[in-house]
Amino acid sequence: MPLTFCTLASGSKGNCIYVSAGDQAVLIDCGLSAKQTLLRLEAKGLSPHSIKAIIITHEHSDHVRGVRVLSKRLRIPALATGATWAATKDKDAVRHVPMSAGRALEMAGIKVHPFSVSHDAADPVGLVLTAGGVSLGVATDLGAPTRLVRHHLAGCAALVLEHNHDATMLAEGSYPPWLKQRVRSAHGHLSNDQGAELLAELVHQGLKQVVLAHLSEQNNRPDLARDAAQNCLSGCGSDADLWVASQEQPSDVFTL
Ligand SMILES: [Zn+2]
Ligand SMILES: [Zn+2]
Repeated sequence: MPLTFCTLASGSKGNCIYVSAGDQAVLIDCGLSAKQTLLRLEAKGLSPHSIKAIIITHEHSDHVRGVRVLSKRLRIPALATGATWAATKDKDAVRHVPMSAGRALEMAGIKVHPFSVSHDAADPVGLVLTAGGVSLGVATDLGAPTRLVRHHLAGCAALVLEHNHDATMLAEGSYPPWLKQRVRSAHGHLSNDQGAELLAELVHQGLKQVVLAHLSEQNNRPDLARDAAQNCLSGCGSDADLWVASQEQPSDVFTL
């Protein structure tokens, strides 16, 4: 069964990725309103009834805003680590399915493998989703490309990788000093250069699709993120397709 995915939204105002294998699917995070999530699914011809669960990477509002309403509407559970679930607000009557970093589980015909990432949340995870022998790796809120992250993302046919900010735009931008420090810390977000460095280590023959994610609206531009990643791919001799995910529009639907 091929693995298909679509980034419904990406950025500090809301994150949500649809991933399906055959007629079953999961959402990775639901940081849009339930209404907006359903509208974007419909716009891409993706059936909400295929969705069997929402997998929560961490409790920040740009990842969980729509979880309660959407899980109620679709009668689906939320997968989250115990600490993430404890830290998640606004979850009344949502059924929680526990997961743990380092332990794979099966959901909607997809093997879900969460792994720890360095980010300022209770127990944040990145994810590798596998079906039909191919994997999608997702790491969008992390301050450092640790060895654990590189280990888990190696060999994925598709990667959704954070390219949050351009270091110069962040340094010269209007964020207060404490917030600049938070963003660039090892528990914040990856810059374009850090994202491209990580990508360079993950390039392999079977890498087909790269999606740059969680771009800052204030401290980045799509062309800068794209240039950093494209230089890296070209330098590595990779012909993987590159897409820059947006806050306002869903991506193409990619089939691996
Ligand atoms: Zn985020
Ligand atoms: Zn976050």
